[in-house]
Amino acid sequence: MRYTQFLIPTLREVPADAEVVSHQLMLRSGMIRKLAAGIYSTLPLGERVMRKTAQIVREEMNRAGALELTLPFVQPAELWHESGRWNAYGKELLRLKDRNEREFCLGPTHEEVITDVARGLISSYKQLPVTLYQLHIKFRDEIRPRFGVMRAREFVMKDAYSFDADEAAAERSYMKMYEAYTNIFARLGLRFRAVEADSGPIGGSFSHEFMVLADTGEDVIVTCTACDYAANTEKAEIRVPDAVEAAADQFGALARVATPDMRTIDEVCSFLKTGPASVIKTLVFDTGEGAVVALVRGDHDINEIKLKNYLACSELALADEDLIEKVTGAPRGFAGPEGLSGVRIIADYGLKGCFNMVAGGNERDMHVVNLNFVRDFNVDAFADIRLAGQGDACPRCGKPLTTTRGIEVGHIFKLGTKYSTSMRAEFLDARGESHPMVMGCYGIGVGRTVAAAIEQSHDGDGIIFPAPIAPFTVLIVLVNPTDAQQHQIAVDLYEKLLGHGVEVLLDDRDERPGIKFKDADLIGIPLRVTVGRNAVKDGLIDIKWRKTGAQAQAALTDAVENVLEALPNL
Ligand SMILES: [Zn+2]
Repeated sequence: MRYTQFLIPTLREVPADAEVVSHQLMLRSGMIRKLAAGIYSTLPLGERVMRKTAQIVREEMNRAGALELTLPFVQPAELWHESGRWNAYGKELLRLKDRNEREFCLGPTHEEVITDVARGLISSYKQLPVTLYQLHIKFRDEIRPRFGVMRAREFVMKDAYSFDADEAAAERSYMKMYEAYTNIFARLGLRFRAVEADSGPIGGSFSHEFMVLADTGEDVIVTCTACDYAANTEKAEIRVPDAVEAAADQFGALARVATPDMRTIDEVCSFLKTGPASVIKTLVFDTGEGAVVALVRGDHDINEIKLKNYLACSELALADEDLIEKVTGAPRGFAGPEGLSGVRIIADYGLKGCFNMVAGGNERDMHVVNLNFVRDFNVDAFADIRLAGQGDACPRCGKPLTTTRGIEVGHIFKLGTKYSTSMRAEFLDARGESHPMVMGCYGIGVGRTVAAAIEQSHDGDGIIFPAPIAPFTVLIVLVNPTDAQQHQIAVDLYEKLLGHGVEVLLDDRDERPGIKFKDADLIGIPLRVTVGRNAVKDGLIDIKWRKTGAQAQAALTDAVENVLEALPNL
């Protein structure tokens, strides 16, 4: 492709409303343009990157035996009524009516439609297992679309759905997708981790997120420093500590201390000249069916998802002022475990073996010191209810955990029979008995993956594309296109490389070299070949690697060979 025949509208300035680097660089490199909030046009350069990314996804899905189809973007409300999600989905579902006043929505996801397709196609166990997928657009009316294509309202996604006869078969389908995803992100040239995730309100019992590692990522991932355990913070478990008992002869005398207006851990600690690890944080929760008190160490954070899973309750929220007062007899900020009655108390494992602790005194402006488990208070259970973090013990091997940041680009989970039951997607087994199909669903955001690749790989000058998704592999910079000899050399090289099947962009613009080099760095093509005065005078060209900044000179006669040799290691 010749630059003069291609449209790459690069920008010098950082667009004002672009907060994250991938958004800035995708706008500046001319990959995308904004049409409306969270809605973008993909321009020719960006389209090449998106298509390459999608193609790798497609190839690995096909290799895993999944079948490609395309489902409608506009979906009838009836299907969503059948699944029970028309009312439950909320405002992210963009609803509309046709000329006959029939209700529809723009597809934010396709479980309903695929389940409808499957129940029409599949009737016998002999047709199972089946995994179907599409690469298509979705629309989610996000309350706050931001970060460019990272959190857009309209976006391209690969979504796949598996259908199986039973749980064991569904697990095999799940593992196939897990492997396919691992292959996809490796082939895309990304550093990533598959992390165990909470399956959340969508349901299902098994779930992994694929995270591209990047310092700028929104998500915190907990990984083991020794084994391959990784999980997001909501899910990350902490090893159950070995039983430790504090020796009673170390217990100080329980005392009440006036702490006027001191409600936070920090205020209490600086007043009592102690550290947060010596404080019991006492949190009152409303489960909808009564209050529960959770205790964590002052330097730890409660993980409400773990607590909710532990309690197996359908709702969980921090109690309001009235409920706190009812449970503790004191206003917010002075709750403690001592003397509480008629309420379930769950303590985090981190409090095991702690002694002489500080806690609220269940009275306004009052705390207690030298509070000790068993002697002064009891709990109903110890459990893992805090957020895992740096230094906690790995649940698998016990070695320390560490935290890192990432961007979720893919998510796989077992759906079970949630949709097949409500929508009656059933099959007949060998004995002629009817069962709902067991489903799984598997998504990859294509634009989000491209944005995450840029977040992971860029520098102050621009994008550093991983070679597999770079819009072109080689950029030839023709320094002076008005010099007939330079021009001829560059075009010769360009055509020879094209002949070898290399994707080459020839910058034949009549622009200053400085502008061409700046644009070259901005659009991040892995290998740059400069044809300038030296090519004419000495028969030499310059080769520069975008990723490492390494440079080499090559004889014009060896140029094609040198470029071809460099390609596998880009
Ligand atoms: Zn481990």
